[in-house]
Amino acid sequence: MFESLSDRLGKIFEGLRGRGALNATDVDNAMREIRRALIEADVSLEVVRAFVEQVKERAVGAEVTRSVTPGQQVVKIVHDELVAVLGDTASPIDLNARAPVTLLMVGLQGSGKTTTTAKIAKRLSEKNKKKVLLASLDTRRPAAMEQLRVLGEQVGVDTLPIVSTETPVEIARRAEREGRLGGYDVLILDTAGRTHIDEELMAETVAIKDIANPHEILLVVDALTGQDAINVARSFDGRLDITGIVLTRVDGDGRGGAALSMRAATGKPIKLIGVGEKMDALEDFHPSRIADRILG
Ligand code: GDP
Repeated sequence: MFESLSDRLGKIFEGLRGRGALNATDVDNAMREIRRALIEADVSLEVVRAFVEQVKERAVGAEVTRSVTPGQQVVKIVHDELVAVLGDTASPIDLNARAPVTLLMVGLQGSGKTTTTAKIAKRLSEKNKKKVLLASLDTRRPAAMEQLRVLGEQVGVDTLPIVSTETPVEIARRAEREGRLGGYDVLILDTAGRTHIDEELMAETVAIKDIANPHEILLVVDALTGQDAINVARSFDGRLDITGIVLTRVDGDGRGGAALSMRAATGKPIKLIGVGEKMDALEDFHPSRIADRILG
């Protein structure tokens, strides 16, 4: 197990109790530990650098109150700053638009996109009492379309019947029409993914966006992809102007650093986290909880 950042900082600051304010040397020592903790939490180096600078500015000269040690004081500054960068409050999916409200799911193959699509459908249908329609636009992989149909059935939500000769844009059009005429509240479009960023796929997804006019574009990212996830997030956001992120496999991501990298790279909120393979393993994202985990 890692020694928690709080413990490490406690050691650095031993004997400094009762000092009026933190000086630059105290803060430099603390920053080394903070940098290490963030890197261990798998936050990308670029984000670590920017973050440490920010914390340093706030920490030098900060008053040390009597009730806490300088170590605790720095931990609090880091915690507050993490929460600020992660987005302060939870950011739910926005359904405030004319029905059918369209959600476009994008991301690399294997990121958990189809699973997450079905999880969101289940949650909206059961908790929010919405009538949901699912459609897969992954025309290159019939198995992916079938997977969504099976998951839809499992969570009790309708899927658009599969017509194997249609293009993704044609399916998006048909889904919109079916969503409107069928009285659906929400339409979730699951797009094709590749194993890496690919220009042809991006162009196809942009064309789908233009037709579907989605209210939310949710990028699904695997929290375990670490440093690479930041490039993925930037590429998708650059082309599609995503509205939010769903981080998957957070159940296997011990320290939660991917959240900080994703948020810092795109400035877009993390809306939900996937915490397992089961259909109800989807949670709201709480910045303060992830900040606690990163700090250990
Ligand atoms: P897609 O190619 O992006 O559509 O990926 P899938 O939805 O098919 O997911 C790939 C694998 O990841 C499946 O075995 C899922 O069960 C699994 N998976 C998806 N989300 C999570 C998660 O939050 N936690 C865990 N442990 N597994 C997940």
